[in-house]
Amino acid sequence: MLSKIIDQRSIDVVQKRIDEARRIVIVTHISPDGDAIGSSLALYHYLKGLGKKVSVVTPNSMPDFLLWLPGANDVSVHSEKKEESETIVSQAELIFALDFNVLKRLEGLSSAVEASKTHKILVDHHPHPGDCWSLVISHPEICSTSELIFRLICRMGDFNRIDKPIAECIYTGMMTDTGSFTYNSNSPEIYFIISELLTKGIDKDAIYAKVFSNFSADRFRLMGFLLSQRMKIYDRYPVALLTLTLHECENYNYQKGDAEGFVNMPLSISGVIFSIFMREDQDKIKISLRSTGSFPCNKIASECFGGGGHLNASGGEFYGTMEAAIQLFESALPNYLPYFEAEKVK
Ligand code: 5GP
Ligand code: MN
Repeated sequence: MLSKIIDQRSIDVVQKRIDEARRIVIVTHISPDGDAIGSSLALYHYLKGLGKKVSVVTPNSMPDFLLWLPGANDVSVHSEKKEESETIVSQAELIFALDFNVLKRLEGLSSAVEASKTHKILVDHHPHPGDCWSLVISHPEICSTSELIFRLICRMGDFNRIDKPIAECIYTGMMTDTGSFTYNSNSPEIYFIISELLTKGIDKDAIYAKVFSNFSADRFRLMGFLLSQRMKIYDRYPVALLTLTLHECENYNYQKGDAEGFVNMPLSISGVIFSIFMREDQDKIKISLRSTGSFPCNKIASECFGGGGHLNASGGEFYGTMEAAIQLFESALPNYLPYFEAEKVK
């Protein structure tokens, strides 16, 4: 039996809003990951099963390794079909916002969602939810939004409506947001939920292979270059810095999603508790940060790179050259010495 994480009033409101609405739109964050797409498609299939007209709209496209997910081809991508996806959002009688906290994370799609006057329900596990939502279901202690969707459906009395496709989407989100259950994954209830999903016929080993054993040879060559030529380990700090310029990416025929997971790798080095990856994109440098223990990488994400996220997994952006991004980071590092010291004492 699962504990009742989501309060009963929220469950009642969600139920009522779903009952009242015919057209429902689900939106999720820019550069959607496994949890963003997994939770969105799980809710999509569930609501469709209730006879609703449902659309999932993302700000930009998902990486190829998620395209096998049931329903992935039904997703409307705003950056590819602006007018069409904005019309879909404008016609919504209910909007679910999944796996992000503030409108800014929708980038180009944010004004369409902001303009809608309909009910907007946030279901998320990032800290600091924004104030534009009519109902906030925010649980940073939960490993993934996909897990919250499982809990939500069950609490509405519909465990029986969870079929194999829904279970596959939920499992994918739980697996990807915990690094295949290697971090943020000590809650016993996670494994209870997995056992329930297995009863729906999912093949968890096949899902792992579809997500993590499906990369190109180019990606592995890029990874080799990155680790041997572009990884800096600091003497004075338990920190690793990874960098890739646009040109270096192009040398390895870079495809969207190829850098997924790179930022985690230095955390396997003894003594490294914080890893930062800077990847030059067309118009900005994308910053990814990961840490172990209680080192707050989201603090650096927000203080240096206008971003945020979780304590151990966060992101941000930098507008300028790679050299300037590195300089900003290195000049900020001494400010976080007390946090590094605190980890040492443990
Ligand atoms: P990733 O490094 O995989 O892009 O993102 C890691 C985590 O940080 C995710 O939970 C994501 O939602 C969050 N995140 C990534 N980029 C940003 C950003 O620019 N702003 C904020 N607020 N969060 C971000
Ligand atoms: Mn998530």
